[in-house]
Amino acid sequence: MKNQEPTINFLIPDLIKNILDRTENPSGLGSYITSRIRELLGARLVILIQHTEDGPESHHHLLSVNPTSQKEKIDFHRIDKLAVLSHQYHQPMMVDQNENQGGLSELLAFLGGGTSLFVPLEYGNTRTGLLLIIDIAELTQLGSALVSLNTLSGVLALVIRNNQLHKTLETKVLERTAELKESLELLRNSEENFHRFLNESPLGIRIVTKEGETIYANATFLKMYGISSLEDFKNLSIFQRYTPESYQQHLERKTRRKIKPDSIEGYTVSINRTNGEIVHLDVLRKEILWNGIYQYQVIYQDITDRVQMLEKLTEAKMKAEESNRLKTAFMNNISHEIRTPLNGILGFGEIIVNEELDQKEKEHYLAVVNESSERLINTISDYMDISLLVSGNQEVYLGYFSVDTLLEEIYELYKPKCDSAKIDFLLTLDTLAQGLMIKSDSELIRKVFRHLIGNALKFTTTGEIEIGMRAYPLEIEFFVRDTGPGIHPEYQKFAFDFFTQEDVSASREHEGSGLGLAISKNIVELLGGHIEIESNKDKGSTVRFLLPLESTRNEAVDNKTTGNLPGKKLILIVEDETYNGKYIELLLKNAGFDTITVDNGLKAVETCVQNEKVELVLMDLKMPVLNGFEATKQIRVFRHNLPIIALSAYSQINEKEQAFKAGCNGYLLKPIKKELLLLKISQFLN
Ligand code: ADP
Repeated sequence: MKNQEPTINFLIPDLIKNILDRTENPSGLGSYITSRIRELLGARLVILIQHTEDGPESHHHLLSVNPTSQKEKIDFHRIDKLAVLSHQYHQPMMVDQNENQGGLSELLAFLGGGTSLFVPLEYGNTRTGLLLIIDIAELTQLGSALVSLNTLSGVLALVIRNNQLHKTLETKVLERTAELKESLELLRNSEENFHRFLNESPLGIRIVTKEGETIYANATFLKMYGISSLEDFKNLSIFQRYTPESYQQHLERKTRRKIKPDSIEGYTVSINRTNGEIVHLDVLRKEILWNGIYQYQVIYQDITDRVQMLEKLTEAKMKAEESNRLKTAFMNNISHEIRTPLNGILGFGEIIVNEELDQKEKEHYLAVVNESSERLINTISDYMDISLLVSGNQEVYLGYFSVDTLLEEIYELYKPKCDSAKIDFLLTLDTLAQGLMIKSDSELIRKVFRHLIGNALKFTTTGEIEIGMRAYPLEIEFFVRDTGPGIHPEYQKFAFDFFTQEDVSASREHEGSGLGLAISKNIVELLGGHIEIESNKDKGSTVRFLLPLESTRNEAVDNKTTGNLPGKKLILIVEDETYNGKYIELLLKNAGFDTITVDNGLKAVETCVQNEKVELVLMDLKMPVLNGFEATKQIRVFRHNLPIIALSAYSQINEKEQAFKAGCNGYLLKPIKKELLLLKISQFLN
């Protein structure tokens, strides 16, 4: 006995220490207690029951059974009953199955009987569990064991309570973690939605401090500028952010801005996108609280499409108004500019036929008829030019030609007129640009000169007219200067508009339809150049036009095409209209050529086959039997180098191009002008 008692007495404190050490790991604690006590007391079975209070209800459950294999076999219902019954006892007790101890022994009997210990686990008045030690083999230690277990029960009660609290806490932590996870998920979703809502919004959104610093900008706003980050936006200078006009408006708005908390300011701005496009935006600005400070929230809507549509509509409206104005001006003009020369032709024609006139008078009236006819033809050809230019159907034929030669030809053409008007006519060529060949449409340039020299002649009564050119590195300048009355600076703005004249009074001194400068401007622009007037009242005028220079200097070629016409060369005239044919025949005969005239294409081909002496063909394009295009094609089959000059009445838009395609080398418009015809011929027969 003496050496048995210390065993348990020593072991119990050791057990308590181990139990306390394990409180850090409560899950394994129950099985440690039951196994250690079973070992110490040599019991068959040890059961640890936990008692929990949940409000008025109390619950029991098996915390641990040793040996664990017995756990399945235990009737928990009975254990529960036993535990309920145990509430009347507060001290460890030994239970003998042979003694009736208030039903305890009876209840314990279902666990297999034997001497057992019944240990309520309490601290203060709080019951936390029950320890059942069934069928103890070492009965000799029972007394000391009871004493030790009494000591142990308080500790066990606390440890179980602790265990229970820990478990509750663990469950709570898990529940709370799950809750937090859920709210975190919700928060993340809502943040993601909000982010999308801002960045995928069709509206640009920006937050600006009162000092003008941008502290937030959504993706749509950045895209409007063609950039991708707030930093990029901050790096844009104010001049990159706005177009110059918008910047001006921005400054004005800033000075008068007085935003009240609930008021919304609306305006539009135009910005420079980084790729150079201009973007138009509708803007709304309002004060809002952002991070607790009042800032501006600015909302932008891209209205570029709308603005462009409006611009197009306005342009279309202006065009419609302009075309209406042109129509009215045309109707007013046509009656004057066609009636007047027609009256001249008809009136004087009649006089010449009916009256008994001497030769001098006849020549005078004939001159009037000729002048009127020329004026009529010029007017009609102006109308045709406008219609081609305005409708965008004017063809341009680019080719290399010598500038000197062109100007010399033009000079020769107008010299007689200046002489008869007693005005000095000067030609000034840039000596540094001698032999310069440029690529442009020489016929269109001639047309511009016709209008400019025509005006100079019309308005200049004394002094001189000078035509000329100057070559610059990238451009070539042509000019017509006169010492006429000059053009008022105020009128110069309108001088290039269709149907405008400085003097619009009915009694104006000079004839004209107000088309010359407009046609010139349109032609020059079609050739990629620009035209300008330098003039002052009473100081004369200079009209100059500059064309882009695509040149090649050709010193070796002598481009002078004017000169003496070679004599007695045979020219074939193909013309179905008898009078036209006769007229050309007469011109050529006077210039020293031999001619053959035929009246359709087929005869022209036959003549070329039969007569090898034909050195040049003047080919009317519109003819019966075989037209000029077809005839040219057929002649080309056997006479590759025979010069063929097309004569056209200007009936089709791309006639010139077609004529050249068919094989013509030159092209002249009817009515045929003597000087031009001879010039063209001399180019080929030199
Ligand atoms: P118009 O057929 O009336 O000459 P233009 O378009 O050629 O039409 O010229 C328009 C107007 O410009 C003329 O009516 C005239 O008032 C003025 N103008 C043009 N060229 C000259 C010039 N060399 N000297 C003075 N006025 C000119």
